[in-house]
Amino acid sequence: MKRGRAKAAPRAKPAAARPLDGRALAKALLDALPARVAALADQRGEAPRLAILAIGSDSPSEAYLKSKLQSCRAAGIETSVHSLPRTTTESEALVVLDDLAKNAQVDGIIIEVPLPEQLDARRLTARIPPEKDVEGVTERNFGRLFAARKMADLESGGVFVPCTAAAVLRLLETTGIDPRGKEAVVVGRSNIVGKPVAQLLTCLDATVTLCHTRTKDLAAHVRRADILVCAAGKPGLIKGRMLKRGCVVLDAGTTYEGNVVKGDVDAASASRVAGWLTPVPGGIGPVTTAALLANTVLAAERRTRERLAA
Ligand code: NAP
Repeated sequence: MKRGRAKAAPRAKPAAARPLDGRALAKALLDALPARVAALADQRGEAPRLAILAIGSDSPSEAYLKSKLQSCRAAGIETSVHSLPRTTTESEALVVLDDLAKNAQVDGIIIEVPLPEQLDARRLTARIPPEKDVEGVTERNFGRLFAARKMADLESGGVFVPCTAAAVLRLLETTGIDPRGKEAVVVGRSNIVGKPVAQLLTCLDATVTLCHTRTKDLAAHVRRADILVCAAGKPGLIKGRMLKRGCVVLDAGTTYEGNVVKGDVDAASASRVAGWLTPVPGGIGPVTTAALLANTVLAAERRTRERLAA
């Protein structure tokens, strides 16, 4: 009897990665703020106030500033923008910062970046009092963040989690995946994204590898990651073939190519392998803004508690 070759079953198409919707999460986080803002206004007669120092101008940064102001208005947070010209000297900028530091009505202070080249971000940032450091960028805050062993130590230590790092963790939380014992790989070691994310994942008991431009064989590290965080600012650096199947990919990369914004991950190939993937735009970005507003309300709550306890 002639036996026909068994017909191969059609190969199942791999499911596309689930998108991690930053806009929806940001909305949920922002929706929780007006009640806290109203409670503060009742307690101390004033809404929280965020002061923004903007020196010179840069188009992506201006768009980001507008979106922050709009979100603050919607949440009931007062804002003041202190605009200085591109030619501002360090001593002129420090006068404004020192005034804001002393002003009892100001709960949070942020400095827009990029700064004109004559200004040193570290020296300006150092004048922000830690209790008003709502972006978590001062060295005092950074030290407290890295002194923490567990997430609970952050609140007791009065830490402000840097906003993009907070956004990465918030989006990871929405997957329901517990980082404990997982392999986490962070690409990028800046003070505002890569390093704080690595520290937070360590506090959550993940085993963390921090990669940078001197890392030998980036792909070999990335392939081990159950959780991958990208913060390199290099569009297309991470391809689907580098990923472990089913992993969570959180892409903070935000690079403008003309009017198009690109992440570090090649979304087309990555979505065929990853289990979860943040879109760019619409992933980490909107949650970062929500985290800034949440930190501003937290600063106001902490300052009010201290004032009432004094
Ligand atoms: P950064 O200060 O320029 O740091 C980039 C980091 O990536 C550095 O540590 C660098 O390594 C590493 N890196 C660059 N190319 C690499 C490569 N080919 N392989 C491995 N590592 C590489 O940037 P950042 O301020 O952290 O920002 C990173 C990205 O996140 C940018 O696209 C930025 O726009 C974006 N971002 C987004 C938000 C948001 O709200 N969504 C907020 C902040 C930043 P070395 O240290 O060796 O140079």
